[in-house]
Amino acid sequence: MDYGLGFNPLYFVLVIPPLLLGFWAQMKVRGAYAKYTKVPNQRRLTGLDAAKIILGPEGLHDVAIDGVRGELTDHYDPRSKKLGLSAGVAQQPSVAALAIVAHEIGHALQDQQNYAPLKLRGALVPAVRLGSWVGPILFMAGFLLQFTGLAWLGVFAFGLSAIFAIMTLPVEFDASKRGLRLLQTYNLTIGNEVQGAKAVLDAAALTYVAAAIQAVATLLYYVMLIAGRRDD
Ligand SMILES: [Zn+2]
Repeated sequence: MDYGLGFNPLYFVLVIPPLLLGFWAQMKVRGAYAKYTKVPNQRRLTGLDAAKIILGPEGLHDVAIDGVRGELTDHYDPRSKKLGLSAGVAQQPSVAALAIVAHEIGHALQDQQNYAPLKLRGALVPAVRLGSWVGPILFMAGFLLQFTGLAWLGVFAFGLSAIFAIMTLPVEFDASKRGLRLLQTYNLTIGNEVQGAKAVLDAAALTYVAAAIQAVATLLYYVMLIAGRRDD
């Protein structure tokens, strides 16, 4: 059977459910953020306050703090050593702000300590950028023109994205673990506030799990399309 690229039942098994999982995870992280951004932390510390408390004692003197637009856009950039904080995190004294800033400082600590999964993932970035747009083109061209070798090359290029998405998991889980430890070490969270912080970070982690499942399932879809055609 050859369904070509359209109307393939595999699509509904391998592509649609992971996509729905991704939407669901996004909703969950937005929900957790919306909930805990309204819960003020007892010490009334904004994300910026928390960052200032943590960075020095952790030896992160070369990390600069920068404002970024948007919501849930907070990140740490290992190249510029900049901690990018959204207004909602930098200026709000909420449980969510503490969780997010601690997580991002967790990434800064990974960078400082040359945490291998972070370095490896960083090294993959240029290849992934190229592979993620060249891969599907090569695959389509190979598939439609029946050049199986070219289609496999596309799968390989796209496979880099899947490897990247998988490498992201230990990096993100570890940053959250470090973040929650920082919140407790510096007594930034009081009582069960740390559970609220954990809920925000767990929801965020789920989006990375969904992204990894999506990448692997899409890869599998490509592989099965080629394999299925071979059997004809
Ligand atoms: Zn992260």
